[in-house]
Order: sequence, then C-alpha cells, then structure tokens
Amino acid sequence: MPQVQETILEIDLNALQHNFEFIKSKLRNKTKILAVVKAFGYGSDAAIVANHLQQLRVDYFAVAYTHEGVTLRNAGVKTPILVLHPQIINFETIIEHHLEPNLYNARVLNAFIAVAEAKKQEKYPIHVKFNTGLNRLGFWEKDVDYIIEKLQHTNAIHVTSLFSHLAASEDLNEKDFTQNQITSFKKTALEFEQKIGYKPILHQLNTSGILNYADEAQFEMVRAGIGLFGFANDEHITAQLKNVITLKSIISQIHMIEPNESVGYNRAFKADGFMKTATIPIGHADGIHRALGNGKGYVTIQGKKASIIGNVCMDMIMVNITKIDCKEGDEVVIFDHQTTVNDLAEQANTISYELLTAISQRVKRIVK
Ligand SMILES: *Cc1c(COP(=O)(O)O)cnc(C)c1O
Repeated sequence: MPQVQETILEIDLNALQHNFEFIKSKLRNKTKILAVVKAFGYGSDAAIVANHLQQLRVDYFAVAYTHEGVTLRNAGVKTPILVLHPQIINFETIIEHHLEPNLYNARVLNAFIAVAEAKKQEKYPIHVKFNTGLNRLGFWEKDVDYIIEKLQHTNAIHVTSLFSHLAASEDLNEKDFTQNQITSFKKTALEFEQKIGYKPILHQLNTSGILNYADEAQFEMVRAGIGLFGFANDEHITAQLKNVITLKSIISQIHMIEPNESVGYNRAFKADGFMKTATIPIGHADGIHRALGNGKGYVTIQGKKASIIGNVCMDMIMVNITKIDCKEGDEVVIFDHQTTVNDLAEQANTISYELLTAISQRVKRIVK
C-alpha cells in the first residue's frame, strides 16, 4: 500500500470474501444468501462491494431505498435487488430498473399493483413483509386473506418471497420473544402458501439471527449485512471475521503548545503544560462524531494512541502527540480493526452500524 496522502477509506475485498464464506459455512448448502448493502454498503461503497459479492455468486441484494438500487444497477449489478423500504413515488423507477419492492402494507401493495398494471407487467417479482414484533414495517398475520384477495385479482405481480425481521436476534435474554417471532412467521407463511398455492422464498434472519437461530429459522434464504463487514454483535465471532473497512488519514500540521494555551473551538481544551498536537484532516462532516471530542476518541499514530483534544471541528480534529515520535505527513489510523470501531462506537455512545455508516461521502473510497 503506498503512503497515505489524504483521508481515505480502504475496502478490503479479501476480508469481505472471508466473511461471506464464514457466513456461508454457518448455513445449509442450499440456503440462499441475500447481502444487505444499504447505506453505501454500511458506509463503504455499495457498488464495489456488490460487484465483488456478485462475482462470489451471492443470490440476492437488498437496499433500503430505491435510488440505492438504481446506483447498483448503473454499476452493472445484475443480481436481483430487493428494495426494503420503497416509497410509492419511486414505483415506476423500480420497474424501469428491475428492482423488487417490499410491499409492507395495503397502501403500498395497492399502489404497486396499479403501477405494475399501468406498465403492463406480468408476474412482476415483489416481496411481502410481515410484522412479527419489531413493529416497524409489515403486514400483520390477520392480513393474509386481504393480500391473497388482492393477488388473485391481478396478474401483474408475483410473490417471490415472504419475510420478516427479528427485533433482538443478538440478545439471548430475549430468546422467548424471538422464538415467538419465528413461530408467528412460520404460521403466517404456511397459511399464505396454502392459500396462494405456491411457495415463495422465506427469510427472517439478519447477521445475528444467522449466528443464533440458524437451526430454527434458516428457511430458504438469510439476509446478511453487518457480518459481511466483519461485525457479529458478539466478540468471539467478530474475532473470526475480518475487518473490511479501514479509515486512515495523515498529519497536516504539528503545533507546539505552551501552558495555558487553548486548542480548538470554544477553547474547550486548555493545556496545563508544554505539549505537542497534530491536526488531522477529518471532522464531524466526515463522520467523526462530536461526542468523540474532548478525550473520548483517539487515533493511532506510529502504533500509539493519540487522544482527540478539544471539540471535533467540521473538517478537522486535533490530537495529543506529546509522547509520540512523529512528523507532518505521517499516516494516521482512525480505525483498521473491529475492536477499534467498537471501542470508538462505545465512546460515542453508539454502535458499529452507526459509526460506519456515518463516514460521509466526502471521504475517498479505495479498494485495498
Ligand atoms: C439492515 C437489515 C438487515 C441486515 O441486518 P444486519 O444486522 O446488518 O445483518 C436485514 N434485514 C433487514 C430488514 C434490514 O433492514
């Protein structure tokens, strides 16, 4: 890897492949894998990640919103793409780009049927989501007859899959609740299959679900997101996964600070002795949460921790390098391992998912 010369996010496709194969190894041979690449591929680059997973013969992709699916299609992705949370205004775009909507309530189901009929579609692939306890999106168990009735009156759409989402798959204290979600989904899916007369693909498990409930609820497909990027919501399993996303920068400038001088906005940091600081070209507009200011967060320079001092600025942070032998232009690691991501997430009172997806589009993405 050449010397880093600006703030960059590196994507390690070998690590991605390792994680994909690890997840596969937890599943039966025939189980399909849907890769969730929403939110720019968990903050990395959805097109790069999806193209690589496509080469690895992933079965399906999912994104949250329609335009994310359009980006993948424009980047050459041919694999089916489920849009988890489409809006009616985008239904024509969905059909034009061969994206597959999740139809989660009567409003969107009827609107999609109308658009598909107007565009003379036949058996257009759609997915139906059932709410089994997350109370976020989805039809209820009692809505099956209503959905079947609508489906029997149109030839424009075809149900490719039925799915549901677990609320606490990572939390084994909620095992009973999760088992109830699984039981409810099985019952609804069975009723649906009997009434519609064919068998859509069933899927309910996210990464933590795959790790904790593969025996009970694997069905024909699973949906892996964060696990592909190296995180398992469990430190022992995370240790068996590889880190995909690395965030690096450089030292722009070094300052020698004298006692009682302050550093940064609002003079939030005041030096109580002689010290040395480094200014790094990455700030809250790049995804360094302001909660990481004032000693909460740190970066690594020459293998040593340098804590963030003062407030995080929009475009920069200042870090304490008093005890680090380094010079302007040296490489700075924000994170290059899952443990650092989890550590920083904890310091910012959040989770790896938010820390990764917060890395803004201003940061240049490169393949390692
Ligand atoms: C984001 C999402 C996933 C992926 O979850 P991970 O915990 O990242 O594996 C799966 N299913 C749905 C419905 C989602 O919204």
